[in-house]
Amino acid sequence: MFWQAAYHLFGQWHPRGGSQSLTTALIHRLQGWGGQVRTDAVVERIDARGGTATAVVLQGGERIKACAVVTAIDVQTALLRLLDPPLAGRDGVELNAAHPGNAVQMLVHVATARLPPYPGAREGDWDGLQAHGDTLEELRRGFLSAEGRQLPDPVPTYCFTPSVYDNSLAPTGQHTVYLACPSAPYDVQGGWQDQQEAFADAMVAQVEAHAPGFTASITARHIRTPTFMAKELRWPGAHPMHLDISLDQLAFLRPTRRLAGHTVPGVHKLYTCGASTAPVGGIAGSSGKAAALELLKAQP
Ligand SMILES: Cc1cc2nc3c(=O)[nH]c(=O)nc-3n(C[C@H](O)[C@H](O)[C@H](O)COP(=O)(O)OP(=O)(O)OC[C@H]3O[C@@H](n4cnc5c(N)ncnc54)[C@H](O)[C@@H]3O)c2cc1C
Repeated sequence: MFWQAAYHLFGQWHPRGGSQSLTTALIHRLQGWGGQVRTDAVVERIDARGGTATAVVLQGGERIKACAVVTAIDVQTALLRLLDPPLAGRDGVELNAAHPGNAVQMLVHVATARLPPYPGAREGDWDGLQAHGDTLEELRRGFLSAEGRQLPDPVPTYCFTPSVYDNSLAPTGQHTVYLACPSAPYDVQGGWQDQQEAFADAMVAQVEAHAPGFTASITARHIRTPTFMAKELRWPGAHPMHLDISLDQLAFLRPTRRLAGHTVPGVHKLYTCGASTAPVGGIAGSSGKAAALELLKAQP
């Protein structure tokens, strides 16, 4: 609710051209400082035998020596599966118990011939998040359904219309709309394959109910199910925050109280950041900054 109200009150920040522009800008900055970025380089192992992180080993066997290692993937995979030896003892047990949750996002990207035609809409109304759920109870039931491996019905849906403030996204007069359901089950009874089209139709119908004519304005659509995103983005459980953002694993408790400082007890020169670390996920980069400060603190 706060998130939604804040967008309407204060506006929102959108990198021109979409999210990739933000990544591209960060890469340019890193390269400007002499850094190098390698993609398609899957890390299979973080070598910390002897109690100090000294190298990462890629799929295919290439070993990259390092004076420090900063992980930016989901922290359970990093410390329980890639770290050699894996985090053990109380720290390992507590991290293993951190929970991702089964309620994740399902997306439908659509191209439209016009903006969602909300009756009585004023200029500026398309600038923020547009929520299509009628009651908080509906939203609550949606999350409960997802935790129980069921598709929510009705489908809580929200949408953004970024082409309103970024004319590089669509030809003049046309628009891009992204629809998201925040309570789609990752693990769903019946599987996503056979249910994705009907579920996407239900999301579109939610918008149609508040913007009659929306469905007819759609010229193309692309569905991104949780299964699709888990594979494409290497998100275990398809969670964009890697771990659930429940109160027991937020801020100084994320991912666990003892690991919230971005260092790893018993392993020198290993730092963690990313969505599953403190304070929380998202694109603001707070966890990366915190990890960088820890690393700098340890420099002689
Ligand atoms: C629909 C939707 C809307 C959202 N809206 C917002 C919003 O408005 N504001 C906001 O702040 N956040 C938002 N989020 C959340 C935000 O996108 C995520 O929390 C954020 O992108 C997580 O970034 P990250 O870098 O920590 O992790 P990731 O994006 O998961 O990046 C980790 C990278 O590491 C790679 N990787 C994984 N394993 C390995 C390996 N073994 N070797 C090498 N590479 C590996 C992955 O391929 C991935 O590229 C949204 C998410 C969704 C799905």
